[in-house]
Amino acid sequence: MTEQRGDTAEARSADSVLPPDRWQDGRRWGGALVALYVVLALLPVGLAFALAPRPAGPFLLELARLAGLLGFALLALQVALSARIRVVDAPFGLDVVMRLHERMAMVAGVLLLAHPVLLAFGAHGWGLFRLGAGWRVNLGQAALVLLVLVVLFALFFQRLGIEYQVWRVGHKAAILVVVVGFVHSMAIGSNLRHAGMRAYWWLLLVMAVGLFVFRNVFVPLWGRRRFRVAGVEQETHDTYTIKLEREDGRPLAHRPGQFMWLKLKRPGRPSEEHPFTISSSPTRQPPLTATIKESGDFTNTIGRTRPGDTAGIEAPYGRFSLLHHDPEVFLFIAGGVGITPILSMLEYLQDTGDERPGVLLYGNKTEDDIIRREFLDGLPENIRVVHVLSEPDEDWAGPTGYVTADIIREHAADVLEEAHAYVCGPPPMMDMVIGALRDLGVERRRIHSERFAI
Ligand SMILES: Cc1cc2nc3c(=O)[nH]c(=O)nc-3n(C[C@H](O)[C@H](O)[C@H](O)COP(=O)(O)OP(=O)(O)OC[C@H]3O[C@@H](n4cnc5c(N)ncnc54)[C@H](O)[C@@H]3O)c2cc1C
Repeated sequence: MTEQRGDTAEARSADSVLPPDRWQDGRRWGGALVALYVVLALLPVGLAFALAPRPAGPFLLELARLAGLLGFALLALQVALSARIRVVDAPFGLDVVMRLHERMAMVAGVLLLAHPVLLAFGAHGWGLFRLGAGWRVNLGQAALVLLVLVVLFALFFQRLGIEYQVWRVGHKAAILVVVVGFVHSMAIGSNLRHAGMRAYWWLLLVMAVGLFVFRNVFVPLWGRRRFRVAGVEQETHDTYTIKLEREDGRPLAHRPGQFMWLKLKRPGRPSEEHPFTISSSPTRQPPLTATIKESGDFTNTIGRTRPGDTAGIEAPYGRFSLLHHDPEVFLFIAGGVGITPILSMLEYLQDTGDERPGVLLYGNKTEDDIIRREFLDGLPENIRVVHVLSEPDEDWAGPTGYVTADIIREHAADVLEEAHAYVCGPPPMMDMVIGALRDLGVERRRIHSERFAI
């Protein structure tokens, strides 16, 4: 349905539109961030040991205090993990950072729940859980109840039928747990009588509240780049490409395969922020494009976007890009709208005259679901494109079914030994494909994937 943008767009020089390849992007920066996280989380435990009076109190009491200190530090650091800071995303990818955020929420929750239980067993008895235990204890109780509600809400909102956007707003209440927990621990914690510990506690609070304000006030007001919708093209019966041009005319530096947070402002429609791949190559800006499939409340309205509508964009994010690996051979495997990051990479390879060989296995239900078919079928000979259909018409002569180990072996056996594989699609398809690649001998380090879920 669309014209081949590759024929019309004037390719820019690749270097001028890529983010500068600073040391931040590399392993050293990732290692430094991990070390910083560990130090910040464990510092209160170290300080508590260093500053504790000797001899120490009963074992369970000491354990309770350490659980409280470590739990609070991890909780404050949760804000840093969820603030979508680009220099934190750069070495890991936002999906990895958010997975750590989810896991550490459980660890902090367990530690903070263990804190009063150990205190009760250790010395103070179950009176701690009564309302009449005094305001300082009540603050701790309130923080704990709020924390449990926030964690349960995060775990079960989908099963409770609560909308994602409603959950996001509710989840912001977690900052209250940090603030109330801070006041509670400063008011009652014996370890926090020491000036060094108090200073560190203030640092954690200022960092958490500062990042919260940055994410929820600064970014919405001033942190997004302003774009205008230059065009909307229907790709298939349920997928549209939105073309966006920056208001100041400057290109947005990104790597092929990265994604953005897009907030469309359309008259009469609610303005929501959603993550979408930048489906165009950086070499083809302007425009920058997002190719979006109708799949829910917001995306179902995407076809009603009009030229002239405005958009705020936060980008680039993610590490799903061939530029991070520089392989000799490529194996792209996509399912449905999961083709979007691969489209960006393929455009990039084409525009930079890259002649390295590659295979694209692209799974869809029917021929009508294939996104940008003309572009894919017009790719240079070094990229072999194989369409795999699970519900084809009778006259379909190509491979059928899902992208399984057999399909991969049949159509990409010659590249398996060397290729880096780039996989993106619906979660069950990705699990199956990654499992199949492993069975076929492709090492984990050569498999790169992007999940459309954060
Ligand atoms: C890195 C990444 C890249 C993506 N690229 C594309 C793309 O190129 N094309 C495309 O069509 N889709 C893409 N998606 C998926 C897209 O973000 C969701 O389809 C869209 O947000 C669904 O919103 P909805 O209101 O229409 O659906 P809903 O039915 O309301 O939501 C369905 C699910 O989408 C997720 N979701 C919804 N809103 C948000 C949000 N604001 N932030 C994060 N997740 C949310 C939640 O898991 C939710 O349960 C991408 C997702 C990610 C994480």
